[in-house]
Amino acid sequence: MAVQRDCRDKGSAQVTARANPYPPPRQPQAGGSLNTCAPISLHTYIIRGFTVDMRTGKNILPPSPPSMPAGSNTVGITTTVPVEVLLGAGCVPVDLNNLFITSPFAEDFILTAERSGFPRTCCSWTKGMYGAVRRYGIGRVVVVLQGDCNNNQALAEMLEYEGVECIPFAFPHRQNVTEMAGEMRRFAGRLGTDPETAEVWRERLGPARKLAHEIDMLSWREGKVHGLENHLWLVSTGDFCTNPDRYRSAAERFLESARGRNPIGGRVRLGVAGVPPIVPEIYEFLESRGATVIYNETQHQFSMPRGGETLQHQYTGYTYPYGIRCRLKAIGREARRRRLDGIVHYVQSFCYRRIEDRILRDALPMPVITLEQDRPGAMTGQIKTRLEAFVELLWSRKSGHEIF
Ligand code: SF4
Repeated sequence: MAVQRDCRDKGSAQVTARANPYPPPRQPQAGGSLNTCAPISLHTYIIRGFTVDMRTGKNILPPSPPSMPAGSNTVGITTTVPVEVLLGAGCVPVDLNNLFITSPFAEDFILTAERSGFPRTCCSWTKGMYGAVRRYGIGRVVVVLQGDCNNNQALAEMLEYEGVECIPFAFPHRQNVTEMAGEMRRFAGRLGTDPETAEVWRERLGPARKLAHEIDMLSWREGKVHGLENHLWLVSTGDFCTNPDRYRSAAERFLESARGRNPIGGRVRLGVAGVPPIVPEIYEFLESRGATVIYNETQHQFSMPRGGETLQHQYTGYTYPYGIRCRLKAIGREARRRRLDGIVHYVQSFCYRRIEDRILRDALPMPVITLEQDRPGAMTGQIKTRLEAFVELLWSRKSGHEIF
């Protein structure tokens, strides 16, 4: 799974030529040009390919390519995979989750999937990815069959049925460097490249990953990065906004401007664990109530914080595919390091990972609130009230005036 960014739709109809027995999804009507403004959260708008914070007027994410990356070398990904292999093979990687959630027509993507047979009780991220493939005519998709999502097998079957080439990738069942190396070799071979070329890309991506880590550090050490910005920059390391050089230069500019800010100064320090929220509004809402999100668990993992001397070491240290026990260690470590007051555990409706909620709540030595949402759009009043009460509770504990 995963998250938000800035891949833009611009009438991308140059699709990879593959048989598709179904008509394309309904095209957006009113306000359909993404050259205009499209809200993705309260104060954040996509304008002419930039994600802009309306309060400051500052671009907070690198611009997307001038046109949609639909073409024969575009490859959709269903979650973070070894992007270095794709780049080594000359592909343009595009994270389908980001494509879905940053579109002002995200709801349409879900409806497209439901019209094509996806049940109402299927996760919206899965349906959104399917809708994005259909909307942008993406002809090749890397589907992670182990270590990501139980829905992916059926998603791949549906896409293949409709003429989309699906390339499987499976994170080894255990965190084992040798097994990871074997899977990477197989994956690279399938894309017409080899691990040695991918290794060159690991080194080339090093500076961009380092910048993502600096943005993250500026969040929790100096409090100069908003929770939404932290989320966007880290979640974008799954595909580097389809262009690592562009990501890198935009990150340099962002850092330069963020370093000069005054600290945001939230009275409560929060982390968000779980799959990236389908409602980015959560970050600004929490901030408006005096809580700053300074840790995004999954997005932080996408940036490969542990690094590694080789590609197989790097991806073996990545916790997301390896279950709750492995994740808990990383969450606990970061919670201590960042001095978190509490955790918001975001769970997606109809996601099997929801089952792990109890373990996470039992294991973490700090207050946890579980938040569930189904579709993109505004948060409900009930969710807002619960979040507000949670922030007040944390503040009362922190300030020594317990109210409960
Ligand atoms: S079911 Fe869970 S893991 Fe799968 S796409 Fe949805 S949120 Fe992600």
